[in-house]
Amino acid sequence: MSRLAVNICRLLLALVFIFSGYVKAIDPLGTLYKLGDYMKAVGLEGALPDWVLLTFSIGLAAVEFCLGIFLLFAIRRRQTSWATVGLLSVMTAVTLWLAIANPISDCGCFGDAVKLTNTQTLWKNIALLTMAVVTAWRPLKMMRFVSESNQWIVINYTIFFIIVSSAWSLWTLPMFDFRPYHIGADLKKGMQMPPGAEQPEFETTFILRKNGVQKEFTLNNYPDSTWEFVDSKTVQTKAGYEPPIHDFDITPIGSDGQPAGESVTDSILDNKGYSFLLISPHLETADDTNFGDIDQLYEYAQEHGYGFYCLTASTPKAIRHWQDITGAEYNFYATDETTLKTIIRSNPGLMLIKHGVVIRKWSHNRLPKTDELVQPLEKSELGQLPDDTIPGKILKIVLWFVLPLFVLTLADRLWAWSRWLKRKQESNRIYQLLKKKRKMRKKIVAGNWKMNMNLQDGVALAKEINEALIADKPNCDVVICTPFIHLASVAQVLDSKVVGLGAENCADKEKGAYTGEVSAEMVKSTGAQYVILGHSERRQYYGETAEILKEKVQLALANGLKVIFCIGETLEEREANKQNEVVKAELEGSVYNLNAEEWKNIILAYEPIWAIGTGKTATAEQAEEMLAYIRSTVAEKYGAVVAEDTTILYGGSCKASNAPELFSKPDIDGGLIGGASLKTADFKGIIDAWKK
Ligand code: PEP
Repeated sequence: MSRLAVNICRLLLALVFIFSGYVKAIDPLGTLYKLGDYMKAVGLEGALPDWVLLTFSIGLAAVEFCLGIFLLFAIRRRQTSWATVGLLSVMTAVTLWLAIANPISDCGCFGDAVKLTNTQTLWKNIALLTMAVVTAWRPLKMMRFVSESNQWIVINYTIFFIIVSSAWSLWTLPMFDFRPYHIGADLKKGMQMPPGAEQPEFETTFILRKNGVQKEFTLNNYPDSTWEFVDSKTVQTKAGYEPPIHDFDITPIGSDGQPAGESVTDSILDNKGYSFLLISPHLETADDTNFGDIDQLYEYAQEHGYGFYCLTASTPKAIRHWQDITGAEYNFYATDETTLKTIIRSNPGLMLIKHGVVIRKWSHNRLPKTDELVQPLEKSELGQLPDDTIPGKILKIVLWFVLPLFVLTLADRLWAWSRWLKRKQESNRIYQLLKKKRKMRKKIVAGNWKMNMNLQDGVALAKEINEALIADKPNCDVVICTPFIHLASVAQVLDSKVVGLGAENCADKEKGAYTGEVSAEMVKSTGAQYVILGHSERRQYYGETAEILKEKVQLALANGLKVIFCIGETLEEREANKQNEVVKAELEGSVYNLNAEEWKNIILAYEPIWAIGTGKTATAEQAEEMLAYIRSTVAEKYGAVVAEDTTILYGGSCKASNAPELFSKPDIDGGLIGGASLKTADFKGIIDAWKK
């Protein structure tokens, strides 16, 4: 549910931000003018130079657009979602002020593309802020379209695209013109009130006096003539329909720079021929680098009988200065500053109209050149409406921005998919290998006679076990570990292919004056192949430390013996939940120093001390959990493949009755058997568990 909510919010936010960022980015001057309105509203008009506001408007549009794209692609999810919350918090605060104080009629959130009232804007921002908070609450739930390693391409391309779009729009004109003076617009029509349009309503209040008493009246209760008129005030009570073009008026300017004579708007718009309107809200800040092109256009207009008017809201001084520096011979006309800024986003800019219809618009950087001004406009391309339609412009954006990102996403998904497939194949391969290894791993049942039986009884038992296993071949390796004095004799009665032989201990010294000790070499010389080391009874009763055991293991391996190395925790340690650290420390202290080659001759036996000879068995689950843990530490040390190869036994009150369940666990590879290895039937019962 939360994933769905986050993704819906993130996509809606993305679409709004991309749209609002883009429409602002392609009209940086429009955003600059809007910022100027804000500065005026807070009494800071002119406090910052235009270039600062222009940089800010380009930056703001770029930030919005980039946030939109980053939300869409789920790029840098945490930072992006929090930046969105931050930006929307500021915007919501500003629109709250707009809704309360109403200092500006349109917030400019969507440039000129969509106009909202201040209250609508406030609700829109509250909705967007809520969505941003939902997104920032669980940013990582946003689904990615491009993998993390390729996101830098989207980031850089988006920044590049939007900055270039702004720069290009400044150099030329906005790619999309949402204003009523766009190419193809019929200016006369734009000024008309459609039939039946709602008319504005006004109310007039009259202030009248009689006998020294002053009172207010309306037309509805206007009194008789005995009242004397003092004053009246008229207020608009209903806005009514306002045509898109409502402030477009062209008035000639006299030689003194003041408006002179009647408006010429109608005569210009009614003229069936072509007219050039050179638009400059302020000539004092107009770019004069292309004045040569302007003068040439004026001459061209004169030559072909086209009108040429310079519309400006400049001071007489600024007009004169312009005439001085450019040698302008054309006439100047007064028009409202805001209207001029709305007509064209260039100062100066040029508009060609024919019978009131806008045919072409040029920024001062892209004015028609000499070679385009050879033919009269009637015959040249310049005089015709251009054929760049809105779908055509959208196609350009698709080709320049959407398509590359789409191709990148597709390539990225394919790349991610092929990597996933490869990883899956690899993990399948490892899984199969490990499965095979597991199957191949040696299963062992080893008996530990401890200090039981004299030589004759021991030899007889060994003989009996040997015969029983020859008669009924086991499904696992079988080993019997006997006291030292039995080894040589037992070796004589065992078929080493059926039953292996091992000692219960060996010395930690190679040889020499160590009375009573038996060396690894001596054990090996009896015909034994195995030795048990690290048994808890030896650690407990004979003080065998990790260091001593390390020596013993080294000597046993050096003499060609396989080591059954025992580890396990006491009851107190288990109760303190320290079993994992205890067994790991025992392994690290005595055998994890071995190299991989030496490790091949190590068999581990997990024997919880509380279960040895006590009749208490660890449950199959407890045993499995410990063996799996031990195997994981082997994997950490020697790698997964070696770990899967390592035989690990369980020991501790293992009997024929519980062996099948214990041996059914995936990590238990057999048992080290104490008491139950002293009788053939008991021992065989455990061995046969591998047949079940
Ligand atoms: C042992 O001493 O190794 C052992 C597992 O003993 P028992 O099977 O008797 O618990």
